[in-house]
Formats: sequence, C-alpha cells, structure tokens
Amino acid sequence: MPRGVAKQNLPEKICPTCGRPFSWRRKWARNWETVLYCSERCRREKSATVSPMHAQGTGTGRAGR
Ligand SMILES: [Zn+2]
Repeated sequence: MPRGVAKQNLPEKICPTCGRPFSWRRKWARNWETVLYCSERCRREKSATVSPMHAQGTGTGRAGR
C-alpha cells in the first residue's frame, strides 16, 4: 500500500506553444476544456511567433537613398 501521498488526480495538457505539460489550475476550473496554453503568454505567442520582424523603433532604419 502506498503512503497517503494522494496527489490529486489533476488532468494535464501539453501547451502547443512551449511544448510543456501543464496541469489543471483552479482558475481554469470553469473553462478547463477550452484551455490550450499553459499561460496567457503562450496564448499570445501562438500568433506572435509567426509574425515577421517588423520595423523596430530605432533610428538606424534608414539606408541612404
Ligand atoms: Zn506554454
């Protein structure tokens, strides 16, 4: 018989952005089924990773004509 290490049987998912498994959190209790990413950050990066480099705000962008 195992000790009383009854870790709750939390469901897990794998974040498609960072590829890491993450487990159920209380804040997702309501919408766990719709949660796909481990964090809001990854949720945003899903689309951010594909975007091309946009012009940075540095003043060195202008090459002489
Ligand atoms: Zn993630």
